[in-house]
This record gives sequence, C-alpha cells and structure tokens, in this order.
Amino acid sequence: MSLTSSDALWEQVKANSARIRGCKRHRFEAKPVKLGQKQTCLECGGQISLTDMGNYIAGFVAAGGDANAIWPGWTK
Ligand SMILES: [Zn+2]
Repeated sequence: MSLTSSDALWEQVKANSARIRGCKRHRFEAKPVKLGQKQTCLECGGQISLTDMGNYIAGFVAAGGDANAIWPGWTK
C-alpha cells in the first residue's frame, strides 16, 4: 500500500508536532518575517506559525523567562 499525499502530509504534521513537543526551549533566528510565514526552531527544526511563536514567547516571559533568549532583540 502506498501513502497517499494526504497520508504523507499527515505524517509530516505528526513528525513536526513531535519535534515541537520534544523541544526543551525553542529558539528562532531574528530576521524579518512575512505574515503567514512559518518559523523554524533552531533547536528542534520544528515549524510553528507566527501566532504560535508569539504565544510561546508570551508564555515564556510570563514564566519569568527572557524573550531575547528565544528571539534575539525581541524586546528592543
Ligand atoms: Zn524547538
């Protein structure tokens, strides 16, 4: 049985969320971003949306973390 393209896509989604969940701390390259463009974590290689990344940074800061550790220059 061969994988259909939707099966393959689903496998990619599952692999990506496993990477995201398994990451100790996401870290992103500080570079200009386009709306809708996914960001790739430099630690785990997982991809997340800008919205999720913003929420992640907000949560990290709420827990007492430094946003600049995730995205250099975030609080500039
Ligand atoms: Zn990560």
